[in-house]
Amino acid sequence: MKRFCYRCGALEDEAGPLIQGLCQRCFSEVPLLQLPAEVEVVLCKRCGAVRIGRQWQLQSSGASVEDAVRQAVLHVVRVTRDTEAGRKFLRPEEAGVQVEVNPRLKEGLVDVRASGRVHHLQVNPKVEEATLKLNLKYTTCNLCSLKRARHYEAILQLRDFPSRETRLRVQEEMERLAAQSSKVKPGNFIAEVKEHHGGLDFYLSSVSLARMMAARLKESFGATTVESAKLIGQTKNGRRKYRVSILARFK
Ligand SMILES: [Zn+2]
Ligand SMILES: [Zn+2]
Repeated sequence: MKRFCYRCGALEDEAGPLIQGLCQRCFSEVPLLQLPAEVEVVLCKRCGAVRIGRQWQLQSSGASVEDAVRQAVLHVVRVTRDTEAGRKFLRPEEAGVQVEVNPRLKEGLVDVRASGRVHHLQVNPKVEEATLKLNLKYTTCNLCSLKRARHYEAILQLRDFPSRETRLRVQEEMERLAAQSSKVKPGNFIAEVKEHHGGLDFYLSSVSLARMMAARLKESFGATTVESAKLIGQTKNGRRKYRVSILARFK
């Protein structure tokens, strides 16, 4: 008995193999791309980070707005995958589907082009294109808000410098160390540096950064350090909150 497409009647020998009872041409009408008509992309106006789901994704210094939009749009793209077990909507990389995203910022549009198979029996991969409306929004990311508010959790107090030259060298070294550390952990930064009777106070975003800097002071400059913590309140979930101070002396 010859099998044929239930929709157009084409014979499987000529237009097959049939997929779910459909010939190749009729099955190719199943859309590959699953997209919203409009996509909202939120960027940080200070550092260019892009919000992906609930997280802020930092961008490398050379990244453009187009790159950020591309990342955000790729995050919402889903593609159809049919198997014997049913239909699923997968991320393009899970389904092995190539997706290109081309933002047209001036026009407020994004072109999406996908090529791949909806079903493994599909002979020719589908190429599908769609255009979405782009709703670009600018705000300030969490990290930039903290930096702007000069948020700090620890104070590193440097006292008794033997000379102004040493103080300058130490400050440079501390700033270099903090910059290095923030490349790995963006939440690590110097919120503020203040002079204090010839000494220096570093207001630091995290306790771990303060300890890292204190360790360097010991190793490279022979400083002695003492850490103390002061209770400053409670967190929202009732845990005690401390501000850590580290005192470093040079003689
Ligand atoms: Zn057909
Ligand atoms: Zn930011």
